[in-house]
Amino acid sequence: MTVVWTSFFFVYGLVFGSFFNVVGLRVPKKESIVSPPSHCTICNRRLTVIDLVPIVSFVFLRGKCRGCGTKISPIYPLMELVTGVLFAFSFYSLGFSVELAVALLFISMLVIITVSDIAYMLIPNRILLPFGVAIALLRLVSPLNPWWDSILGAAVGFLVLLLIAIVSKGGMGGGDIKLFFVIGLVLGTKLTLFTLFLAALVGSIVGIIHLRRTRQGRKTPVPFGPSIAVAAVISYFYGNALVGWYLTLFT
Ligand SMILES: [Zn+2]
Repeated sequence: MTVVWTSFFFVYGLVFGSFFNVVGLRVPKKESIVSPPSHCTICNRRLTVIDLVPIVSFVFLRGKCRGCGTKISPIYPLMELVTGVLFAFSFYSLGFSVELAVALLFISMLVIITVSDIAYMLIPNRILLPFGVAIALLRLVSPLNPWWDSILGAAVGFLVLLLIAIVSKGGMGGGDIKLFFVIGLVLGTKLTLFTLFLAALVGSIVGIIHLRRTRQGRKTPVPFGPSIAVAAVISYFYGNALVGWYLTLFT
C-alpha cells in the first residue's frame, strides 16, 4: 500500500509543483493566481491542457511555446519534478501524520520562494506570512522536543541573519531574514544553524558556477533563496544524521 500512496504523492507533487510555479511568478507581481489563465508571457497564447501536463508537456514540446517558439526555462519542469519527488519522499518517510503536513507545507513554501527569488530576487511576505502562520499552528500539534525549540530556533534564525545583513551591509535581503524565522519554527535551533552553514556552502558552489558561466563577475547578484531552500530540505530530513557525522570527525 505504501508504494501506491507514495506514487499518489509523487503525482500530487507534480501537479502542485506546476501550481507553485504560477504562484511564485505571479504573487510577487501582485497578480491573481487564478486569472487570467496561464498564457505565454511573450505571445500571450493561452495554454491548453496539452501545454500544462507537468514535465510531459515540456519534454514533448521540447521546451518551447507552441505559439511563438520561445524557449521555456527548464527551471519550471525541474520545480515540478522536485516537488513530486519531495512530496513522495515526505510521505515515504513520515507516513500519514501531522508532521507530514508540516513537511508538505515547508516544501511548498520553499519551492515557491525558489521560483520567485530566481525570477525577481524577491521572497514575498505574501508567501512567508500564510505559510509561517500555518506551520506555527501545526507545530503546536506536532512539536519539536523540547517544544520551545521552535521559538528559540525562529528567534536565533532571525537574529543571526539580521546580524549578517547589518555586517554585510545589504548582502542579505529582508526576505532571507524572515525566511530563516520560518525555518527556525520548523527545524529548531541546532538544525537552523546547520541550514545556514549548508546554505552558505551551496551558495558558494552556485556562485562559482554562476561566475564561470556569465563571466560578469559581481555585477549580477545571485539569489540566495534557492540555496537556503536546498539546505533547509537536506537539514529537515538528514540534518541530525549529518551533524552527528560531522561531530564525530572532531572526536
Ligand atoms: Zn509564446
